[in-house]
Amino acid sequence: MPLPREASRELESLFGDRYSESLLERLSHSSDMGFVPELIVAGLDINIVPDAVVYPKTVEEVVELVKIATKYRIPLIPYGRGTNRYGNAIPTEGGITVDFSMMRQITIARDQSVAMVQPGATWKEIDVEADPYKLSLRTFPSSYDSSVGGGIAGDALGIGSYEWGFISDNLTYVKFVNPRGEIETVSGPELAKVAGAEGTTGLIVEAGIKLRPKTPTLSFVFHSPSLDEVLKIVGEFYDTGLPLWHVQIRGPSISNDMVDGFKADLQKDEWNVIVMFPATREPLIRRRLESILKNYNKELRPLKWVGWWTFNHAAIAALRRTGTPIHQHGLIPMEKLPNLIKELESNLGPLGVLEENRGFDLDIALERRRVLLVNAFTISSLSLTDKKLIYDLAKNTLMMDAFVKVGGSLLSVGMFAHKYAKNRLNVTSKTFSELGLDRYEIISKYKKEMDPEELFNPGKLLPPEKRGKKVFEISDRQKLALTFRFGIGLAKSVTPGGPNDGYKTVRAFLETFTDYAFQCIDCAMCVTVCPQYKVVYKNPYAPKGMFDFVKGAMAYYFLNDKKIDIPLSVIADISGCHKCGLCDRVCPENIPISYLLVQLSTKVAKGVSTKAYVSLGLTEKEPFSAIHNPDSTTVLWVGSLMQENVEEAYVAASILEKLKVKVRVIDTDKDSGFYDYISGSREFVEKRLGEVIETLKDSELVITLTPEDYRTLNDYVKQAANIVLRKQLNYYVMPIELFLLSMALPFEGKEEQINLHVPCFATDYAQEIIAKLTSRGFKVKRIDGCSGAALAKNLGNRARELSKAMAEKYSELVTLCPLAAQQFRSFGIRAQTLVEFMASKLGAQKLVKVETKVGFTLSEDRKHAIEEIVMKSILEELENKVPIFADLAAFVSDSLDESRKILDPVISEVVTSAGDKIASELSKLVQEDTGKGETSVLLVTSSYVKELMNVVNAQTDFQRIASEVAEKVLNTVPDRSAFNKDLFIQVVIVSLRDEMPELINLVSRKLK
Ligand SMILES: Cc1cc2nc3c(=O)[nH]c(=O)nc-3n(C[C@H](O)[C@H](O)[C@H](O)COP(=O)(O)OP(=O)(O)OC[C@H]3O[C@@H](n4cnc5c(N)ncnc54)[C@H](O)[C@@H]3O)c2cc1C
Ligand code: SF4
Ligand code: SF4
Repeated sequence: MPLPREASRELESLFGDRYSESLLERLSHSSDMGFVPELIVAGLDINIVPDAVVYPKTVEEVVELVKIATKYRIPLIPYGRGTNRYGNAIPTEGGITVDFSMMRQITIARDQSVAMVQPGATWKEIDVEADPYKLSLRTFPSSYDSSVGGGIAGDALGIGSYEWGFISDNLTYVKFVNPRGEIETVSGPELAKVAGAEGTTGLIVEAGIKLRPKTPTLSFVFHSPSLDEVLKIVGEFYDTGLPLWHVQIRGPSISNDMVDGFKADLQKDEWNVIVMFPATREPLIRRRLESILKNYNKELRPLKWVGWWTFNHAAIAALRRTGTPIHQHGLIPMEKLPNLIKELESNLGPLGVLEENRGFDLDIALERRRVLLVNAFTISSLSLTDKKLIYDLAKNTLMMDAFVKVGGSLLSVGMFAHKYAKNRLNVTSKTFSELGLDRYEIISKYKKEMDPEELFNPGKLLPPEKRGKKVFEISDRQKLALTFRFGIGLAKSVTPGGPNDGYKTVRAFLETFTDYAFQCIDCAMCVTVCPQYKVVYKNPYAPKGMFDFVKGAMAYYFLNDKKIDIPLSVIADISGCHKCGLCDRVCPENIPISYLLVQLSTKVAKGVSTKAYVSLGLTEKEPFSAIHNPDSTTVLWVGSLMQENVEEAYVAASILEKLKVKVRVIDTDKDSGFYDYISGSREFVEKRLGEVIETLKDSELVITLTPEDYRTLNDYVKQAANIVLRKQLNYYVMPIELFLLSMALPFEGKEEQINLHVPCFATDYAQEIIAKLTSRGFKVKRIDGCSGAALAKNLGNRARELSKAMAEKYSELVTLCPLAAQQFRSFGIRAQTLVEFMASKLGAQKLVKVETKVGFTLSEDRKHAIEEIVMKSILEELENKVPIFADLAAFVSDSLDESRKILDPVISEVVTSAGDKIASELSKLVQEDTGKGETSVLLVTSSYVKELMNVVNAQTDFQRIASEVAEKVLNTVPDRSAFNKDLFIQVVIVSLRDEMPELINLVSRKLK
């Protein structure tokens, strides 16, 4: 349900574009590790899609947000990194998700050993900031890349908890905005109001996190075939007060998989106990530890340590090698562990065995007061798709119940396990237990008093009375699931697993990306390393956020009456990163993220047909005509990409003219194949490669104007020619900047400072340019970062967002990318390319100014007119086909692919006739715009083609158009029940999309 308009307006004016109601933002905040569409499939009416998402930057903004939300009675759902596994950070009945990613400041108070932290900062980031002060975290969840806000709200524990306990044991204060919009700062017993309250009592905006002196940490391991023996030994650790920092017990099967999958330094088939402590304590610990172990004939071995991620994350990843792991974690007192094992054994089979549908294994972190964080894993015969879609059904529920039955609790409650909220809040930190506090009572009382409307994270933790009441039905579903226990076949008949309609539909838009979304374990490691996320700090731009989007989209399909349209602009937003591959390197699941993104970009690139580029007749124009020599073996590759910024080409040519260089000029109708290659399109090999080779025949030196063409001609084309055609291409490629800087030019810096922006595809040669500039006397500050200009190709918002974020940081930039320069300028950055910068120093300004006049910009009115003409023409032509659609209605069956076979030819005809109409209408406008004869007809035409691409690629109206036509078909078919309207709409949208490149070709060919 959309928010009240007034509320939207107020929020927009407060947050600007940090407030969003876009599908992209909303869906990427509809899933955390607790994924729910299967429940919706089963008919549960919970709205897990927020109506809006907001990214506050200051405490004051959070206060204002709370005031607006309470005024309009809109639920607020705090969101950290979405790594919890119980649906804690997703809505139960819509509302506004408050993503704290942009509140991430960290200040280290060295003398107090405290980090004062905003909630969006991650544990890992605190350690990085504390490192120069020789301090580090005392304890943190093994999800090291999760947020501080999430950790406090869930009162996490994990690494270092043997010594330091829960997160709430390590807080000096927490500042939060309560439901009345007041700022409260709490410490000591009052921390119970927020620590563990899952955001139901307020929005955490700052906290003091206690740190410890950083010393090298020593890791050791010992092993035993018997868990009983292990428990006896660690019991002695507790009894003798051995001052260890972290202790982890890893089961035999998990150990095996870790050895096989990650070369972990563990003993196969045994229980491995990892102990860690600061090196400074070695004299105190080592001998005592060895003497305890000696009594059991155990040897202590130094452990080669590979990182926190090996806990939990790597266990799941390693187990994937055997099958589909189902995971449940909970907290139990150590003495209750044998009872838990008995309980699990009676249901799952033997401990330490991990075979399909047989057995389970444990991975246990110890807490200072003998509370264990127990991760239980079992392997099921379900496919990943089945598993996610039926929510780990019977087995997971069984494991949940087992924890509670033996007197423990789940690690968290979220929306899935309300009945266990009291258990969770009673398994509490040292701080609260020593004070004898009943956290459940404190939170309930505070909530009742401060948030009677239940606006703060409704339906979580406490039993909802007003909002989110549907969560109660979840436990009925779980009971039902329990009935079926291991009868997965039966369970599926209740809650259909496997590729259901929502899955299939979303897959039609997002292809294999969808399958991998189920493999993601939400560890958030990719978020931390992603350079694009680091520029904008918005969830959809991080790989995890993209996978969240996929899962959210599946849920939305069912919520939205089985309708979903994912426009190309959204796909461009999701996939439009620069494919640096940093995320691939950290993903414990080995998901080939950047490769998947390339695949997804294909869809966008399909719409960005290179054939649409037109010749600007450069060789006949000054200054190109002056430097052009068709027989030269030196080539100036202007190429199709420069059609976006033809002025830059004029500038480059002007300098070459001054230098009296003769080159063969390649016009803008020639394409290097950059988009084809980067999108994995077969066009690259089948067509573009041959064309490029032909164009560059007999060339020795190719001078490029964009980093994208440099990379394509230097790497991609040469590699493909070698591999596919067994052809060695011997031309040498040089970016224009290096070419000019190699010439004897009066271009000296005299200590002048340059902020040099290095875009993604210039990284190979940027250092050489910097060296040359430095030797000419410039002081260069290198600024790496993606402008998004090339890949987003004016689609989606990513390019805009990235540039805007850059604009907030830099007011003046010299860039190596002409496309980025243009993009930056539109955001108010005084940006110029290095070539333009050189031109101004060389006194070529006059030329630049004169030639810049040839530029042509479409007015906003014209852009609207183009959009209207395109959509109207397509709609009219579709309507002309209504009788044919009605006639074919019965063939539109259950399958998207089958139905497309029937309808695709009709849609193809629609596009051909719409293309004729559009070309004729647009030609009239082009003539009007060039009528006064002051502007080049080629530039005007190219602007029209570019805008046409924007319109057809954004495709915001396809859903509306398809629905209108579907309604007409429905009114025409003789038997309405035989017409699958939803499927028809889907087919029309998808087919139209695939035809769009053809439409662009057609129109650009005919445009006069
Ligand atoms: C691979 C993996 C390993 C894990 N290991 C551990 C572990 O060792 N120990 C452990 O305890 N957990 C573990 N978890 C669970 C999870 O990572 C933790 O619960 C983590 O603290 C959640 O943090 P987050 O930033 O992802 O918060 P989210 O999942 O986004 O939110 C968690 C809760 O905090 C609330 N919240 C978030 N920010 C705020 C705020 N500013 N103010 C108020 N409320 C807020 C949310 O509404 C939600 O209720 C693991 C998860 C994964 C995927
Ligand atoms: S490949 Fe894309 S998503 Fe992955 S880290 Fe690089 S920019 Fe981010
Ligand atoms: S994509 Fe990989 S690194 Fe990113 S959250 Fe998922 S599992 Fe972790």
